[in-house]
Amino acid sequence: MTRDPDATTVKLAERTGANATRCEVASTTRLCTSMIEIALRGNALALAGVPGNDVMIRLSDANGRLVSRRYSVRDVDAEKDELTLWVTVDHEGPGSTWVQSAKPGDEIDVIGPRGKIPLDPVADWHLFMGDISALAAAYRMASSIDVPGRAIFIIEIDAPDDAIGTTFDEGLGVTGIFVERRGRDLKDAAGLLSGLAAFELPPDLGHVYLFGEFHVVRTLVAAVTDRGVAAEQISHKPYWRSGLSNAEHGEPDKS
Ligand SMILES: Cc1cc2nc3c(=O)[nH]c(=O)nc-3n(C[C@H](O)[C@H](O)[C@H](O)COP(=O)(O)OP(=O)(O)OC[C@H]3O[C@@H](n4cnc5c(N)ncnc54)[C@H](O)[C@@H]3O)c2cc1C
Repeated sequence: MTRDPDATTVKLAERTGANATRCEVASTTRLCTSMIEIALRGNALALAGVPGNDVMIRLSDANGRLVSRRYSVRDVDAEKDELTLWVTVDHEGPGSTWVQSAKPGDEIDVIGPRGKIPLDPVADWHLFMGDISALAAAYRMASSIDVPGRAIFIIEIDAPDDAIGTTFDEGLGVTGIFVERRGRDLKDAAGLLSGLAAFELPPDLGHVYLFGEFHVVRTLVAAVTDRGVAAEQISHKPYWRSGLSNAEHGEPDKS
């Protein structure tokens, strides 16, 4: 039987109109070199929201301070009352440390649903771009596209086995490429830009979703705008920032 979440977590959830739950770690699975899947049990449907939403995890940093880290919900299993997250571990921070040491039965305070970028319900095609931290959101959002819609993925990876695939409903048009970083700087969008250059964007109405490193996302917004995508057809969110820890509230510093 899990206990109630910490009082500061409850207060934070109230301020954002979200739920606060003390979840139990159900399992962890190494997916690839750069990412671990963690399944959290408890109030899963309410925390998970809709495709595109994330949850805020309340963690202690190296100095014992309580900090928040946000992770997109990859999947939710109502029967098991579990949601899964795909957490990157190719760097050192409270989030990566937590997931690498998490064991079944551990308890963790979770706030959700969070996030303001749902799937565009009227777009004919959906282009998802970013690094591997964008993959959970991209795959969950693409799973909710009505057939016969189209999903396009351009994802930058650090190791060849980071190219994790998935399956979608029959009838969904799926195209995509994984671009290897090959030692380029984390702020350098060149790999994703070359992936974008390889695609002829379909002529009908599309929506572009850009998630990942702060500087890269900024460059990608300019690049898709140059390709003729209107501002209202672009949703973007920096998830992390090269060289800087995310702030206590879980977002990268935007200054
Ligand atoms: C709405 C939202 C959704 C998000 N969804 C996901 C998700 O699904 N999966 C996910 O992994 N992250 C996701 N993030 C990012 C996540 O919240 C953390 O910022 C990230 O995991 C790093 O946290 P940390 O505590 O491990 O490291 P931090 O303390 O934030 O950073 C420590 C150091 O690691 C570097 N670093 C951080 N992330 C990376 C990275 N991916 N690659 C290389 N270096 C890095 C930083 O530049 C810093 O130098 C999301 C963020 C937001 C705002």
